[in-house]
Amino acid sequence: MRVEVDRDLCVGSGTCELLAPDVFEVGGDGVVRVLQPGQADEGAVRDAAAQCPTGALGLAD
Ligand code: SF4
Repeated sequence: MRVEVDRDLCVGSGTCELLAPDVFEVGGDGVVRVLQPGQADEGAVRDAAAQCPTGALGLAD
């Protein structure tokens, strides 16, 4: 699964980091970074993308 972040949409809410902390980390600039998409718990990543308040996360298989 590939995870894409639209950095212009991310507002740094941290929801994705809370749901999938192995994959997402909000950096000091207030924008999320993707850490380990290859080792992700797919369900947690899908939840994170679905619950992102701004729709900043996109998934591709
Ligand atoms: S949930 Fe969305 S807006 Fe919040 S930090 Fe993650 S990508 Fe950014």
